[in-house]
Amino acid sequence: MVLFGYGTNAIRWIATDAENKMDTAALQQAIADDLRGSKTPFMVVGTAGDVSTGAVDDLRAIAGICRQYDLWFHIDGAYGVPAAVVPAYRALFDGMAEADSIALDPHKWLYSPLEAGCTLVKNPKHLLDTFSSHAAYYNFDSTDGDIPAHNYYEFSLQNSRSFRALKVWLGLQQAGRDGYVQLISADIALARLLFEQAAAHPELKAISHSLSISTLRYVPSECRDGRPETATYLNALNEALLNELQRGGEVFLSNAVVRGSYCLRACVVNFRTTAQDIDAIIQIIVREGRETHLRLQQQPVSTAVA
Ligand SMILES: *Cc1c(COP(=O)(O)O)cnc(C)c1O
Repeated sequence: MVLFGYGTNAIRWIATDAENKMDTAALQQAIADDLRGSKTPFMVVGTAGDVSTGAVDDLRAIAGICRQYDLWFHIDGAYGVPAAVVPAYRALFDGMAEADSIALDPHKWLYSPLEAGCTLVKNPKHLLDTFSSHAAYYNFDSTDGDIPAHNYYEFSLQNSRSFRALKVWLGLQQAGRDGYVQLISADIALARLLFEQAAAHPELKAISHSLSISTLRYVPSECRDGRPETATYLNALNEALLNELQRGGEVFLSNAVVRGSYCLRACVVNFRTTAQDIDAIIQIIVREGRETHLRLQQQPVSTAVA
């Protein structure tokens, strides 16, 4: 929206449900409201693996709404889309094939070295219509027999470009479809293991698990009363804890805010991650969680208030 001059005010943010998926009734409503207000919706962006929790929208339902209103259906699958190759997860991505375009980052779950971003577009003609230009000093239109020239500068904003496709192609050649099924399945299993270990630990609370993302919180036993002051303290505690973990350099977790709760977030997208790493993450979180809790408790009240 910014790139094409519409500005962020042109975006309608659609509410999500309890599972962090797009509320498709709210989507339908927003489109109807805009049409009544003489606005012209033209694209819906669904998510296949949201950044915070890995949630996958109901792509089939969104595709139906896009068809009904003749809208472009884009899927942000930057992180999650490669999981569609795993047979057990295929159904979760049902409707994906109806997308007009899909964003996918091979440097995430296809394990390519940074950076390699990619947009798949169903009809390449749209890219040529949008991006192709023929400056007088361009002479790239020669054909190879009957095969027309395939000039990548005509498919995106970028003209001069490095050969990023090579590393992506090599990964695909080396691991193959079966290799990706195995590697991605293993990452998902490790994220689930982390979730289960957090659920079983008396000082941790498992919050969410989807694809290879799990979120959890450090919750000391005396902080389980559910009072609003305690909820505020737990957010501060987990934020301070995350900063400690990132500074400490032993693990790198990120954060997610899930239904108002500040969480620690682990996203497993490395085929070298093992079950021992998951054990270590749990131990480090608990060790640092206790320390951070103690430190916050020891802060004099006056300082904490000031
Ligand atoms: C990572 C990610 C992005 C941003 O991708 P970049 O490669 O950093 O540009 C966008 N959407 C989702 C869902 C992501 O996971």
